[in-house]
Amino acid sequence: MRIDVISIFAEAVQAFTTVSLVGKASDSGLLDLRFHDPREVTTDMHRTVDDAPFGGGAGMVLKPEPIFEVVERQQPPRPLIYLSPSGPPLTQAKAVELAKLPGFSLLCGRFEGVDERVREHLVDEELSIGDYVLAGGEVAAAVVIEAVTRLVPGVLGNTESVADESFSSGLLEYPQYTRPATFRQWEVPDVLRSGNHGLVERWRRAHSLHKTITVRPDLISGRGDLTEQEQALLAEFGLDSVLYSAREDESSER
Ligand code: SAM
Repeated sequence: MRIDVISIFAEAVQAFTTVSLVGKASDSGLLDLRFHDPREVTTDMHRTVDDAPFGGGAGMVLKPEPIFEVVERQQPPRPLIYLSPSGPPLTQAKAVELAKLPGFSLLCGRFEGVDERVREHLVDEELSIGDYVLAGGEVAAAVVIEAVTRLVPGVLGNTESVADESFSSGLLEYPQYTRPATFRQWEVPDVLRSGNHGLVERWRRAHSLHKTITVRPDLISGRGDLTEQEQALLAEFGLDSVLYSAREDESSER
């Protein structure tokens, strides 16, 4: 997997990618990360990459010439993705899609963003990491790189952990515990220590459903509500009160 990052603060992304999982993936050759700074292709004394917006207003805009020039010279792998708060949101499904590609590139904006002609005539798509505004695309690039890298075959030791975690089945993950079984006065649920794998699996599924209904009801309605079997599973573990409060919320909205 090759990922190219185009940024005037490439060192910010680079620092992040030398450690932990992404660092190991780079060291082992599973990930080929390359960084390009649009300042490198500027020809003026001040290495100018930004200018004031036409029409006036606050802030500066990244100029089109250095960005086009660096992309045309370096030919980074496509798709070229512009990180932007106005792009579609990054989801686990999108990370899975990107992890299947041989490579892609990330363009980081700064200041008020990039000249519109970069969006219209150079980039292939846009991605947002959430409904908030960062000062630059570098943190967003690091988020995309980490979300995608951990899905690249061979990067994570235990491939099952990817299949089982939040969003992979449209639900949030169930609670996880490790030793000690009693920490201060808090006990790990007996079910998880019962050795009954079928029961553990049902408990996890019930808690996944419960957490998702409570925290992200939009994910439940997005997958077409609960089946009768799922409702019975919640009842089996005494978690079905969440169904009544969800129904009350719905009727008070009406
Ligand atoms: N003026 C822009 C607007 O209102 O949409 C915001 C520009 S922001 C200060 C500077 C850069 O940070 C953007 O060009 C983009 O690359 C990056 N950025 C900010 N928020 C982001 C987000 N939520 N997701 C991805 N990139 C983001």
